[in-house]
Formats: sequence, C-alpha cells, structure tokens
Amino acid sequence: MASDALTHETLIATIRDYVDQLVEEGLEGVPLGERKAARTISESPAASPPARGTAPQAASSSAELFAAYPGIEKTSTLEELREFVGDCTRCKLAPMRRNLVFGVGDPSADLMFVGEAPGADEDARGEPFVGRAGQLLTDIIERGMGMTRAEVYICNVIKCRPPDNRNPEPDEVARCEPFLMRQIDIVRPRVIVGLGTFAVQALLRVKTPISRMRGVWHELRGIKMMPTFHPAYLLRNPADKRLVWSDIQMVMKELGRAIPRRSGL
Ligand code: URA
Repeated sequence: MASDALTHETLIATIRDYVDQLVEEGLEGVPLGERKAARTISESPAASPPARGTAPQAASSSAELFAAYPGIEKTSTLEELREFVGDCTRCKLAPMRRNLVFGVGDPSADLMFVGEAPGADEDARGEPFVGRAGQLLTDIIERGMGMTRAEVYICNVIKCRPPDNRNPEPDEVARCEPFLMRQIDIVRPRVIVGLGTFAVQALLRVKTPISRMRGVWHELRGIKMMPTFHPAYLLRNPADKRLVWSDIQMVMKELGRAIPRRSGL
C-alpha cells in the first residue's frame, strides 16, 4: 500500500541519515557481537590521525586518471570541459537525473568548495548547493567569510543526483572523477575545501573519518585542501559549527584574507 511504502521509505531514509551522521562523527565500525569481529566501515587498515601539518596526497597520475576519456586533457576552459561532458550517459545515474549539475562560480576562483552529489533541489535547478545545506554553505561564504558565491567555485564529486539521496556508488564516482579532476586543473584554485566525509574520502581516496582529517591541511593535485564537515551535517549538529569556523579561519589565513568583523557561523 502507498502509505506502507512511504513509511518504509521514511524509515530507511531516517536510518541512512543516522548512519551517515555516525560516520561523519567518526564511527569506524559496528560491533556484531562478542565473538564476531567488528564490521569496519572504514576499510583503511590503520586510519590513525594525521600529524598536524600537511598530510600526504593520494597518488594518481593524470595519465591514469584521464585514460578513460581521451581528449579531456585538451579542454582548457570550463566551457570546453562542460561541452566534453555533454549530455552524459557514462553511468547508471543518467536516466534518473533532471539536470546534470556541473558547477557554478568564478572559473578562476582562489577558493573551490567540493561537495558530495546533487540533491533534489540541485537536480531540479541544475546548480550545486541550492537547498537547505546550500543555504548554510552560502551563509558560511557570505556571512562567515565576507565573500560572495560568485567569487568562489562550487561543485560536487559526482554531477548527477543519486536516487533517494543514497550515497554515490564507486562506479559512479569513478566515471565522474576525471571531470572533477579536470575542473580542479582548469580552475587551479589556491585552496580547495572538501565538504564532508564522502567528498573528502573520494577526493583523497582514503577511508579516514572526516573528524580525523578536518583542521589539517591535505594536498590534492598540488593544491592545498582543507577537509571540513558537510553543511548538511551541521544542520543536524549545530554545535560543530565552531569546528567548521576554525577550519574556515585557517582557509582565510591561507588566502591572506581578513576575517570580517562580527563574522562567525
Ligand atoms: N549536498 C552536496 O553534497 N552537494 C550539493 O550540491 C547539495 C547538497
């Protein structure tokens, strides 16, 4: 029955949301009972906290990254790259999307934000971070940093909305990764801010929880990268805004930008 199906869907969405929240907070395993080993969400054999300073970047050569898409390295502007992506059907998300959400902002921005994947609002509008989480990201940029959305560049790890807001699957991430890496190469920001567990783990190809990576500089394609919590996580855990504010202040310092008076999150 329709209402049963709805209840079931709501229940699944609530559980998924809760598990995502635990992972975001740093949960690495779920105990299965005394005699069984814990099932590890983090597959990293030893996800120890990185030393303060700059953590090593995931190694992946451009040749390896772009091998599946000959010609992509010849794109030298975001318009050319967007044309290369075209009406993409390279993964199973294509038939389900309304709009491909490529990215928005200044093509030569000093600062780039990378999120996970478009949600329903983004899919409808064709623009990243325009829903509730997007409003909070906009507040971080405008009220916190004293910048505008037009001054930064915003995109996601994958460009099409996964159904029911599920996490992107590895094959979907793999198909989209060359597009994101080329976006990064073209924009060449001075700093990238990775938003949330999923985006940061995909960008750096690690399984370390975000709580251990945030507040520490990482490196991606020769660019400084600051992992921080996802705005959707902050909507559920407003007390952690202070940690994001501390990460954002490190970003502002790196960019040589003054912290606006009376700013904060
Ligand atoms: N969450 C994301 O990670 N990206 C968006 O564009 C919107 C919400």
